Amino acid sequence: MADKTVFQKILDKEMPAEFVYEDELCGAFRDVKPVAPTHVLIVPRRAIPSVGELVADDRLIVGHLFRVARIVAEKEGLTEGYRLVVNCGKHGQQVVPHLHLHLLGGKQMGWPPL
Ligand code: AMP
Repeated sequence: MADKTVFQKILDKEMPAEFVYEDELCGAFRDVKPVAPTHVLIVPRRAIPSVGELVADDRLIVGHLFRVARIVAEKEGLTEGYRLVVNCGKHGQQVVPHLHLHLLGGKQMGWPPL
């Protein structure tokens, strides 16, 4: 079995993190290096490496992650909106090879995000 990712260790409570939401399918915790006043990572318990490795059976969990993003955004009081980011692979600058949504909010975003 492959080594656990840092996110798998956090979800398994082998590493500390500040959780804001948890259920049987995923966990959401604050990013250790926030780039916005609210920066939460929403991570499936199943260690899917990236968007690039999604399969048909993953569609329910992917939909669930977006629903949890909405729940966390409401809990965080992001009434003016927010941004969801998914980095994929080298050009996407994905660092942790465990699928995750970045939920960013609490400030005005710019565009394009390059
Ligand atoms: P990505 O580039 O999309 O793979 O983003 C990975 C994110 O994980 C970065 O924003 C990191 O700051 C964050 N991160 C890495 N290690 C931890 C950790 N132990 N706890 C919380 N966030 C982390």
